[in-house]
Amino acid sequence: MAVAVIGGGASGMISAIFLARGGVRVSLFEKNEKLGKKLYITGKGRCNLTNDCDLDALFENVVHGQKYLFSALSLFSPADTMGFFEGIGVPLKVERGRRVFPASGKSSDVIRALSRELSRLKVDVRLSLAVTSVQKKDSAYCVATSEGEEIFDRVIIATGGVSYPATGSTGDGYEFARRLGHSVVKPVPALCALKVKENISRLDGLALKNVRLAAYDENGKEIASEFGEATLSKSGIAGPAALSVSSYTAREKCVKIALDLKPALDESALDKRLIREFEARKGERLKSVMRALTPEKLNLYVLSRAGVDGEKLAGDVLKAERSRILKTIKALSFTYAGQAPFEEAVITSGGVDLSGLKPTGESRSARGLYFVGEVADVDALTGGYNLQIAWATGVAAAYDILKQENK
Ligand SMILES: Cc1cc2nc3c(=O)[nH]c(=O)nc-3n(C[C@H](O)[C@H](O)[C@H](O)COP(=O)(O)OP(=O)(O)OC[C@H]3O[C@@H](n4cnc5c(N)ncnc54)[C@H](O)[C@@H]3O)c2cc1C
Repeated sequence: MAVAVIGGGASGMISAIFLARGGVRVSLFEKNEKLGKKLYITGKGRCNLTNDCDLDALFENVVHGQKYLFSALSLFSPADTMGFFEGIGVPLKVERGRRVFPASGKSSDVIRALSRELSRLKVDVRLSLAVTSVQKKDSAYCVATSEGEEIFDRVIIATGGVSYPATGSTGDGYEFARRLGHSVVKPVPALCALKVKENISRLDGLALKNVRLAAYDENGKEIASEFGEATLSKSGIAGPAALSVSSYTAREKCVKIALDLKPALDESALDKRLIREFEARKGERLKSVMRALTPEKLNLYVLSRAGVDGEKLAGDVLKAERSRILKTIKALSFTYAGQAPFEEAVITSGGVDLSGLKPTGESRSARGLYFVGEVADVDALTGGYNLQIAWATGVAAAYDILKQENK
C-alpha cells in the first residue's frame, strides 16, 4: 500500500512516522525547502509540544471539536506524546502550567528528531514540492505536483490552517477538501489580539496584570471571559487574556469587549475603597489620587471615559461622578472591531467541517482520504494543546490506515 501525506508540519510528520513504523510505504510532500517551519516558531522558538495534564483538563482547553477529538486524544494522550518524543531522543521538561518543552529549550531539536526518525524509517520526504490537487480515481487518489501525477491508495491531508501563512500553511487543504466534496467552516484568526474601534493609541504598550477581560454579544450576554494579563496596543487588546477570549469571539458574534481593572473587588467593596481614598486625600487632584487605583497611563483615560475632570479635587467628587468612575473601572468597555489578521494569529478557527469526518479523520464520503491537524475545524487554547491535537489526530489516522490494511 502507498500513502501520500501532504504537509510536513507537526501532524503530517507524525502520521508518516507511525505509518512507516507499521511497514507502509509513505511519501511526505512539503512545499517548503525544509520540514516543520511552523513548529520552529512555536512556543517562542522553544516548542511547547504538549501539556502534561489528564484528559479532563485537556478537553477543558479544547475550544472546538471536543466530541470529535475524544477518540484521537484518548488513543494518543499527552503522556503518549511525551513518551514518543523521549523515545526519539528529545528529553523533555515540564514548566509552569504543566507546559512541556524540549529540555534544550530549542524547537529545532524537536524538528531534528522527527526528521531523523523519518529518514531512519526511509520515508520518501519530498521537499520544495507543493501538491496542487488531489483527485479521487476509483478506489485510489491522484496527487498532482509540478513534477506530475502519482497514484496513492490513501491520502492524508495535513496542510494546516491559514495563520502565519509565511510558514507554508496557506489554506491549500481547504481547496482540496472542497473539491473532494467536503464543506469548510469559514476560517477565522484565533488566539490573536482583539481590535477595537476607539482610538486608544495613547495607551499603546500599557501592560495590565490581574485584570478580567470579557466579550459580549449584541444582547449583552457574555461570550467568554479570562482573568490575567492584557496589553493595550494602538489598535486593540493583546496579551494572554485577549488570546483566550479571541478563540470564542472567532465563533460568536461579538459587539463589545470590556476590561474589569479591579476584578478582586465587587462594586460595593470598590465603592468603599473610592470613598476612603477620596476622603483621605480630599485636597489632592483626582488624577493623582487615581494612581492608587489604576495604572498611571490609564488614569486620565478612565476619568475621561467616566466624564469626570481629573483636575478636580478628590474631596469635590460628586456621588454620581464617583459612581461613573466605579462603573468605568469595573467595565472599561470598547467596541469590538474584529480579530487581528491571520498573519498575527496563532491558530485558525474553522476548517474542514467535522460532520464530514469520522473520529479517525477519515472522510465519511471518500474512503482512504484523511484530514489531520489544524486543517480540520478543531482548535484549543494556548498551553501545548494545539500541538497535542496535531500529534494525536496524525497518529489516529495512521493507526486507522494500518488497521484497515491488516484486516
Ligand atoms: C507563532 C506560533 C506559535 C505557536 N506555538 C504553539 C505552541 O507552543 N504549542 C502549541 O501547542 N501550538 C502552538 N502553535 C500552534 C501549532 O503550531 C499548530 O496548531 C500546529 O503546527 C498545526 O500543525 P499542522 O500539522 O496541522 O499544520 P502546520 O504545522 O501548519 O503544517 C502544515 C504544513 O503543510 C505544508 N503545506 C501546506 N500546503 C501544502 C501543499 N499544497 N503541498 C505541500 N505542503 C503543504 C506547509 O508548508 C506546512 O509545513 C503555534 C502557532 C504559531 C503560529
